[in-house]
Formats: sequence, C-alpha cells, structure tokens
Amino acid sequence: MTMKKGKCLCGYIVFEVQANPIYMVNCFCRDCQIVSGSQFYGAYGVTLNSGIKNLSNEPSSYKVISDSGRENTRKFCPKCGSRVWAEIPDLNLASVSGFALEDRSHFKPTINYHIKQAPKWCLIDKKMTSYEEQEVLATDQSD
Ligand SMILES: [Zn+2]
Ligand SMILES: [Zn+2]
Repeated sequence: MTMKKGKCLCGYIVFEVQANPIYMVNCFCRDCQIVSGSQFYGAYGVTLNSGIKNLSNEPSSYKVISDSGRENTRKFCPKCGSRVWAEIPDLNLASVSGFALEDRSHFKPTINYHIKQAPKWCLIDKKMTSYEEQEVLATDQSD
C-alpha cells in the first residue's frame, strides 16, 4: 500500500492517508453540499485511529450531529477554508476529502449516498451503486 498525501488549497494543512479506503463515496446530503459548495462531497473513507496522519498544523473543526444521529467533526483549513477530512468516532471513520488528495487517481468513487437530497438538475451516474438516504457502512473496519 502506498502512502497518499493530501493538502488544503494553501498548503497550511498537509496530511497522509495510511490505509486502503473502506469506501469511496459521493455524498449528496445537505450538510455535504453546504460544506463542499457543490452537489456532493467526495469521501475517501479510512479508519480514524490508524488511517490518517496530520503532518502539519492543526485544522479548525466544526462538530455536527448528522442525519443518522452520529457525531461528525468536520475539519477544515483555518486559513483557506478547504475541507480536508471529517471524523466520525462512532464508526472509527475518517472521511477524507477525495479531492484533497494530491494524486487524484486515488479517488475513484463507486457509491452515491443520499441521492434523494441531490438537486433535480444533478446527473447521477447510474453505473454507481446509489442509496436514497441512509448510508450503508462496512462494519468490519479492521486493517
Ligand atoms: Zn489552507
Ligand atoms: Zn454527506
């Protein structure tokens, strides 16, 4: 497994992904739309305890309770505002921004979440597995 580096727009936050992804998802939920400023957030999911390492400064964070009732701490650069990752401790999950990875060939989403909340004009890729609302997560996240 190769280490994958990622960073924010200005480079104040630099991180490394140290695990293979549990999933690669485009999430169309409202929260993800607002933080990403787009129709979806590209989520590269890895284990929180061992999958991601911050190599730089401390990101800012904002804690929300998601639709599923779980705590989701969304991390972003305090200087340029880029989303870098989110932490969901209940699932031992770090939801890394797939678009923040330096080598963009690493992020290959295969699943759509919360397509019910996608804008009407949005084109959903029918080749991908799509879920109307609730995400279905892999429960076995051991490496
Ligand atoms: Zn930045
Ligand atoms: Zn979402």
